[in-house]
Amino acid sequence: MQSLQAGTVVVGTGPGGATVARELAMAGEDVLILEKGRDHRFPVGNITAYATMYDIRRSKEGVLVRRGITTGGSTMIYSGNSYDPPAFLKKELKIDLSKEVKETKRELNIRPIPEDYYERWPGTKRLVQAACELGYSMEPQERFIDPDLCDPSCDMCLFGCSRGAKWTSREYVYDALVHGAGIITRCDVQKVLSTGGEVTGVVAYTPKGTLVVNADRVILGAGGLGTPMILQRSGIKGAGTHFFTDPMSVMAGISSDSVGTWREITYTFADESHVGEFVMGNVGAVNAFMAQIAALHLPYARRAVHLPKMVGMFVKLCDEANGSIEPDGTLHKAFTVKDEEKMAKGVDAARKIMIRAGVIPETISVAKGIGGHPGGTAAIGRVVGTDLMTEISNLYVCDNSVMPRSGGIPPVLTLIALGKKFARSLLKKTKA
Ligand SMILES: Cc1cc2nc3c(=O)[nH]c(=O)nc-3n(C[C@H](O)[C@H](O)[C@H](O)COP(=O)(O)OP(=O)(O)OC[C@H]3O[C@@H](n4cnc5c(N)ncnc54)[C@H](O)[C@@H]3O)c2cc1C
Repeated sequence: MQSLQAGTVVVGTGPGGATVARELAMAGEDVLILEKGRDHRFPVGNITAYATMYDIRRSKEGVLVRRGITTGGSTMIYSGNSYDPPAFLKKELKIDLSKEVKETKRELNIRPIPEDYYERWPGTKRLVQAACELGYSMEPQERFIDPDLCDPSCDMCLFGCSRGAKWTSREYVYDALVHGAGIITRCDVQKVLSTGGEVTGVVAYTPKGTLVVNADRVILGAGGLGTPMILQRSGIKGAGTHFFTDPMSVMAGISSDSVGTWREITYTFADESHVGEFVMGNVGAVNAFMAQIAALHLPYARRAVHLPKMVGMFVKLCDEANGSIEPDGTLHKAFTVKDEEKMAKGVDAARKIMIRAGVIPETISVAKGIGGHPGGTAAIGRVVGTDLMTEISNLYVCDNSVMPRSGGIPPVLTLIALGKKFARSLLKKTKA
């Protein structure tokens, strides 16, 4: 057994963990990052990323949940869409992230996709126009993407971006390392150690054997699935329940002429008029097709020959926090009656838009229940306080598991802002 010493241990390198590690390291704190995944270089920007960086789980009830296990966490495979924090954080929990959101948008140059992209995407353009004719409004999305580096005919955001156009939390990890932090990858944290209600470190498995890291402070950023598993193994009460994941239905169909969303970037336009119920938007042909395969709609594989004229849309549900995860990773998540109603309403709207845009109705396939925003499992008010501390002193959580419920929108900007605010409050405490 190997043993190490650190001031602060940060577990996980998604937007939650990486932001905190960076802030603390930049302020001169002694930080050690422990990351379960590898620092994958290959394949990044390649469809085979599905086999390496992706962890895809199926709940006992059939809902799929995707996350990234690699340096950068799920941002390595995210679309790069940016949404302001859900209103309930400020209104109900009095957590005002407006300053940090503004700072992050400026720092990362978050902006909508350039208008000329739209002109280059005939399939997406048709969907946007069809939505408008039917009384919906698919608006250009703000993204963590640098248009100067992006290739608008690539659509590989969900497999990692080999061009460096998409911001990922790897950038914050590397900033932390430049400022003196250390990192151990392929380090699977199992549990937190404590004595007399005070954190003392963590135990992890590495390819070289068991590792114990003694630390004064531990911050879990292992995500909505990883963090509750660690907390439960460490005896923290209440962790692992109230799981949500914003499951999507991804729809694919064949255009009656040759105009599809082939090589058009996914999730660049979305209708947000039903946030709280669902959000719907465009999907590139490759992602629409891959979703059917991931949902085991295997006969759809024969449609691969039609990829150039395939059209995709998604409907992302704001689901109820009714799921749970066990310490060994067994997942329970079903659609509630309310979820089913909201999803049916969204799928019906998207189907009408697709048909209006020229998709042959009989070719539309719906891959239902693919989630990518796991959270709720160590929620503020149940497992952590508004200072993000657990019942164990100096054991904190900063990732999507602290969200008490789904906002129905992608959470990365919120998590970066939360990470900044949280880290700065820790630094203030240390100084005082
Ligand atoms: C396909 C897809 C597309 C998405 N698109 C968007 C989007 O456009 N915009 C947006 O805002 N959000 C998007 N999301 C969601 C977003 O990426 C996640 O919600 C967000 O990254 C969650 O951040 P996190 O810090 O909670 O966890 P994660 O990013 O999942 O990071 C958790 C980290 O902890 C590590 N870890 C896990 N367990 C352990 C352990 N036991 N020991 C050590 N390390 C561990 C993981 O390897 C990972 O690095 C998308 C997600 C997916 C899957």
